[in-house]
Amino acid sequence: TRAALDRIAAHADLGAFLHVDADGAMKSAQAADAARAAGDTRPLLGVPVAHKDVFVTRTLPATAGSRMLVGYVSPFDATVVARLGSGADDFAGAGMVTVGKTNMDEFAMGSANENSAYGPVRNPWDLASIPGGSSGGSAAAVAARLVPAATGTDTGGSIRQPAAMCGITGIKPTYGLCSRYGMIAFASSLDQAGPMAQTAWDCAALLTAMTGFDPRDATSVERAVPDYVAALDQPLPGATAAQPLKGLRIGLPREYFGTGLAADVESAVRTALKTIESLGATLVDVSLPLTELSIPAYYIIAPAEASSNLSRFDGVRFGHRTAQYKDLAEMYGKSRTEGFGPEVKRRIMIGAYVLSHGYYDAYYLQAQKIRRLIADDFARAFTQCDVIAGPVSPTVAWNRGDKADPLANYLADIYTLSASLAGLPGMSVPAGFGAGANARRPVGLQLIGPHFAEERLLRVAHQFQ
Ligand code: GLN
Repeated sequence: TRAALDRIAAHADLGAFLHVDADGAMKSAQAADAARAAGDTRPLLGVPVAHKDVFVTRTLPATAGSRMLVGYVSPFDATVVARLGSGADDFAGAGMVTVGKTNMDEFAMGSANENSAYGPVRNPWDLASIPGGSSGGSAAAVAARLVPAATGTDTGGSIRQPAAMCGITGIKPTYGLCSRYGMIAFASSLDQAGPMAQTAWDCAALLTAMTGFDPRDATSVERAVPDYVAALDQPLPGATAAQPLKGLRIGLPREYFGTGLAADVESAVRTALKTIESLGATLVDVSLPLTELSIPAYYIIAPAEASSNLSRFDGVRFGHRTAQYKDLAEMYGKSRTEGFGPEVKRRIMIGAYVLSHGYYDAYYLQAQKIRRLIADDFARAFTQCDVIAGPVSPTVAWNRGDKADPLANYLADIYTLSASLAGLPGMSVPAGFGAGANARRPVGLQLIGPHFAEERLLRVAHQFQ
């Protein structure tokens, strides 16, 4: 914990952290040491962890990267925070030490971490480049070895894409696996928490602790929690020591390798796939024909839900309230005008528009139909393969300021949005680097599985690593 705190202070220029709790962390670390000495064998006891600033905690502010929530401290801990930490109420905790909260795109809206009200995050591999988003602070913190692990959330790629761009491992579980209680809501039908760490092993250890039914989240799934670590080396039927992935069919969606995919990313991904093949897996062609429509569908559904979720920030009970106003309407208007950044305002406007009378049928309803068809495409593909693999992002990290056009950011989400719309687990695994000028910019291999196939994804990633 002391080493983590020292490195966080030494690398403050990365902009990875928004809040650090040095005193609290040292106290928890000492308590963990005492527990360990008294025979406590919890594997994560005393390991430092950072939480994306979208999770609320009792001890630290939660701003979600927004000016709207400056200084906000919650009266309770998010379930994921409680499960990883010392526990709360009826949850046992894993005993990890919370060292601080990480920077993020405002309300998790973004792909570059340039939408934070508290400044951008730098990618430790190349300080001129973006770390990806929206969990860019968590990804940069793990990549720069400031902390061994961090939490993230993924609504349309926000764990997988920054993990890819920072060269770390991250998994977005099946929708409903990790509780959303205490996660500041962006798009509730898509939001999922997950771990970001060095390896699949580390992610498995965190996921085992994070997962589990929570009566406080109506979409939490009631299901026994597997030991994801134990599953990493469980042999598949037909596997051998030399070929641990024998019998596994890996589907390569045609649409994930088409135009728009940068040559250096494709080459790194194909090299990774060759390694996976050499471990015994068979590569098969599959098709996800509606991939392209995931962008318009997501960028209607997510803003629609966001416009509703963010209506709670009105200057009355939460967050920023304007200094001067004549009446209630002006207080609402000015508080929101001052509190929200441009991308958040854009999404609230799009969301309110697509939900409004006369446009609902033309946009929102159509998007929901496409969402269903995208889920059907995956179901069809999973009759031909066990895991889907491809790139996470069409390019390596770009330079800060290079994609000022919001649409250019949206289009870069092409390979991550569909799994989110279908509620499927998705993972990003380091798969080398780009080429030429991108030779120091990491590439991620994406693995997507059927619902609740986290063990399978983690096993493939672990054998590959
Ligand atoms: N980049 C996507 C967006 O801006 C996804 C963000 C996320 O997963 N939170 O909405």
